[in-house]
Amino acid sequence: MEWVKSIQSSTRVKSRKSETAFIKFNSSKCKACWNCIDVCPENVFVKMNILVHKHVLIRKGKDCIGCGMCVSICKSGALSRIIKNEAGGKNE
Ligand code: SF4
Ligand code: SF4
Repeated sequence: MEWVKSIQSSTRVKSRKSETAFIKFNSSKCKACWNCIDVCPENVFVKMNILVHKHVLIRKGKDCIGCGMCVSICKSGALSRIIKNEAGGKNE
């Protein structure tokens, strides 16, 4: 569908990867089931729900407490935990 490609390129929206201190999100894997929004106790996520982009966005990443409930309920692999090594750095 050429018109979809046209909108995507014109808005310059590509696969979004974002993260909090505890979890990371890959929008290209998101199936827009909204389960993570329902379980997150800190309301970290919001919906991106337009015709060509249906996925969550991390809106309040600083509020994430690392409970892991979103990762547990996401069946698409869009959400995963950030593993930190002993020095405090990230193991991606
Ligand atoms: S639970 Fe996973 S697939 Fe469902 S909206 Fe959240 S990130 Fe997307
Ligand atoms: S780890 Fe917990 S607080 Fe952080 S985004 Fe996921 S459900 Fe929300």
